[in-house]
Amino acid sequence: MFNALVVEKDEESGKTSAAVKEISVEDLPHGEVLVAVDYSTVNYKDGLCIGPGGGLVRKYPHVPGIDFAGTVEESHDDRYKPGDKVVLTGWRVGEAHWGGYAQKARVLADWLVPLPEGLDTRSAMAVGTAGFTAMLAVMALEDHGLAPGHGPVLVTGAAGGVGSVATAILGHLGHEVAAVTGRPDQEDYLRGLGASQIVAREDLTDVTRKPLEAEQWAGCVDAVAGAMLGRVLKQMKYGTSVAAIGLAGGAAIEGALITPFILRGVNLLGIDSVMQPYQNRLRAWQRIARDLPMDKLEAMVQPATLSDLPALGRDILKGQVRGRVVVDVNA
Ligand code: NDP
Repeated sequence: MFNALVVEKDEESGKTSAAVKEISVEDLPHGEVLVAVDYSTVNYKDGLCIGPGGGLVRKYPHVPGIDFAGTVEESHDDRYKPGDKVVLTGWRVGEAHWGGYAQKARVLADWLVPLPEGLDTRSAMAVGTAGFTAMLAVMALEDHGLAPGHGPVLVTGAAGGVGSVATAILGHLGHEVAAVTGRPDQEDYLRGLGASQIVAREDLTDVTRKPLEAEQWAGCVDAVAGAMLGRVLKQMKYGTSVAAIGLAGGAAIEGALITPFILRGVNLLGIDSVMQPYQNRLRAWQRIARDLPMDKLEAMVQPATLSDLPALGRDILKGQVRGRVVVDVNA
């Protein structure tokens, strides 16, 4: 028997509740590889899945946790053997399949990536889905021509998980990073990660009727969408790109939208971390091991245990979590 955070639904009231319970290997869903989990993390989607599910959870009881890192315990796939260190993000694990909020997880071999040299299971989860997505966004901007020296790169939702890692990666790569935050008290934290400029959230959330504004940004990693993305698009330099990763500020983009695309050739790149093929995941994890300063990563980490998760799930949905929450499932 081992511990897991189990979310159950009361069929009569429709209400869900989450608690740490003992479960056994036989309870785990189908998969070729059984992993002894070391660490998982708290992401926005986890907040949804710990609560009523937000349409993500298909079946109760459910074990959330959209990412984890650990050691292979048993494998029916030639690619993995007991003792191998692995990391998992995406593939709807923690949503449609039981996830990393347990001391063991059973998954398909295709969903795993071998831990790259330079990362251990804890640092891999300090990065987690948020950091993996930040790296995918940076890679997409590079593929569309971004290079250091082109001008300031904007990161929205900067004190959050994706934003913190994006700030650290871009700063380390030699970009000038402008970090947008609604939390002025996080200025020192963001400058410590690598931001050279802090932009107040309210400066970018006022909807303007202007079709375009002065060109400012050489690229953007956007975790917020909503009114802010509408505004940012109008401030992008000619021919640059915005990597859109999330919608912490709302699903609707507001403003006179078409002008940045047809008058400035701006690209809007959608970043999805969930269905990334193996080679892309491997390449992103190798870049993380190479291009993310580990000392900066440590400054982002807030440690947690399985029993902290119900409260943390509520906090992340309110935008109140800073950086990355790393869950030691064995603590
Ligand atoms: P966090 O909650 O850690 O960070 C989001 C940040 O956005 C907050 O910290 C806050 O930053 C800012 N924010 C929150 N609410 C608002 C608001 N109303 N208006 C403006 N800014 C706001 O979440 P993550 O970084 O983990 O994820 C961010 C988004 O990306 C989520 O929507 C998530 O679902 C999505 N996501 C998408 C992935 C993909 O594959 N595309 C993968 C991972 C996440 P600050 O306090 O600095 O202003």
